[in-house]
Amino acid sequence: MQKSQELNKLTIKQAGEKLNKKEISSVELTKACLARIKEVDDKIHACLTVCEEQALQEAKKADERRAKGERGELLGIPYLVKDNIMTKNIRTTAGSKILENYIAPYNATIIKKLKQAGAVLLGKTNLDEFGHGASTENSAFGPTHNPHDLERVAGGSSGGSAAAVATDMCIFALGTDTGGSIRCPASFCGVVGLKPSYGRCSRFGLMSMTSSTDVPGALTKTVEDAEIVFNAIKGGDEKDATVAREDIRCPKTVPPQFSSLCEENWGGTVFGHRMSQNLRIGIPKEYFGEGIDKDVLEVINKAIKKFEKLGAEIVPISLPHTKYAVPVYYIITPSEISSNLARFDGIRFGFSDGQVKDLKNIYLKNRNVFGPEAKRRIMLGTYVLSAGYYDAYYLQAQKVRTKIKQEMDKALEKVDAIITPTQPDVAFKIGEQSDDPLKMYLEDICLSAASLAGLPAISIPCGFVNNLPVGMQLIGKRFNEEMLFAVAQLIT
Ligand code: GLN
Repeated sequence: MQKSQELNKLTIKQAGEKLNKKEISSVELTKACLARIKEVDDKIHACLTVCEEQALQEAKKADERRAKGERGELLGIPYLVKDNIMTKNIRTTAGSKILENYIAPYNATIIKKLKQAGAVLLGKTNLDEFGHGASTENSAFGPTHNPHDLERVAGGSSGGSAAAVATDMCIFALGTDTGGSIRCPASFCGVVGLKPSYGRCSRFGLMSMTSSTDVPGALTKTVEDAEIVFNAIKGGDEKDATVAREDIRCPKTVPPQFSSLCEENWGGTVFGHRMSQNLRIGIPKEYFGEGIDKDVLEVINKAIKKFEKLGAEIVPISLPHTKYAVPVYYIITPSEISSNLARFDGIRFGFSDGQVKDLKNIYLKNRNVFGPEAKRRIMLGTYVLSAGYYDAYYLQAQKVRTKIKQEMDKALEKVDAIITPTQPDVAFKIGEQSDDPLKMYLEDICLSAASLAGLPAISIPCGFVNNLPVGMQLIGKRFNEEMLFAVAQLIT
């Protein structure tokens, strides 16, 4: 039997096989993850809450279910959850002082689904306050450190989840992605990060940031694992009207065995037959120039060459509206944030010491608990939504957003996937950019467009610059994550 300290290194797939063969139990697997958290999290600071007892109980239950003959890819698999996702009876802070002691009264739909699948909840991970950021430095509880260099950021906002997966504190983790928050930390920490299409996975029980782009997704050690988690959390939900029912909206455009077909063909020998003539990868020139580190580009270009070697057709494309994606995102996002954060006034939700009695001072005192970035976004959003500015900023941004979406959809009619770098650079030093919000916003230059367009995108590790991981982003067709997995698996 494998040494218990090493079980935490397993992927979902590997752990599932060992569980099925009765080589290990979920309790052993869970203990290995908990031990790893104890061993390294003082340095990394990925976890905000660890539910040791509950996790061991859940693991025991999973073992019992398995003993009765039940099977399932996630049965008994331990995972961590970003702390802006509701987990019943567990502290859920959103990385904010305003919710420091908030205990979630119900489970998010995706948590419910994972519970039914028998996955074991280990605890909650650190994030930029309410998801606002690209470094996890905006967490009220201090930054998460990059496992590859502790002086650097883990990326954000799902930095805790990415760092936890990278250091094997869990077998997989959940994150949320509004404008890059799964893909960015995946890139900086060297793990796989999947942002599903908008409308494919329920947002019920996610703390809303930008309701029109928020999506939950997976941070995993392999693409195969990302697919397993995606399949478990996807699907319609009567509690979220923006999620499509699989049977209506999701025709099986790709045969279900597609991914395994690609795996078989890995090595390039058979690959040509079924796919290579047809596989077309779009390379948008706007993502390969100004603002992107040249060493990062070199790594990405090498990965593209690998696709070419496998027989894929590399198609140069142009997405001229790309340059508007970050400005549009940073008008729409603060607008929705200013409205979504209105509920944290200390009356219904959020901090209140109960001392102040008049309304104005209740607001002044209680809402002052927000950190600087949340306040900045509330102010920006309130400004662009106010009478006289609404048409010039918000409405205009929505119009350009439609253009971005149309342009990407059109490009994806001609290619199967679009490849870009995930980040313009590798992980930067903690504190290096924190007093420069514009610089931080530019971390999103490769990420915002897919979010605004609601397209699925995945970041996969594809090399290193100065010993720091580089991620490559693949953007796919709406509601066709299956194609993304298949393409991503070809070179991982
Ligand atoms: N960096 C982006 C922002 O700060 C992404 C946030 C997210 O996806 N939650 O808004």
